[in-house]
Amino acid sequence: MNEEEKKIYEAAIGKWGETMQLVVAVEELAELQQAIAKAVRSRTPETVQHVMEEAADVSIMLEQIGLIFSEDVEKNGLKAAAQIKAEKIERLHRRLQGGNV
Ligand SMILES: [Mg+2]
Repeated sequence: MNEEEKKIYEAAIGKWGETMQLVVAVEELAELQQAIAKAVRSRTPETVQHVMEEAADVSIMLEQIGLIFSEDVEKNGLKAAAQIKAEKIERLHRRLQGGNV
């Protein structure tokens, strides 16, 4: 996320609170699940557009989740999602090349 996006996310977390934003994240995940299921049942431009919209919503909430837990990650020497993601993509790459995990 860029600095402007980060400021907007922090303002949202400040305005509505961490707990509410985590609830919104859960709601958005459910909406994406539903949109994907609908697109699998009936793949039309409308259902695919709906998947894209819900994927964008989830992406926005995933970034807020990262911010909400960033202090815990720093304090406890945990790995941030971005680092874990990079490691998992690297592992996937190795698997695709037929190597051991
Ligand atoms: Mg949504």
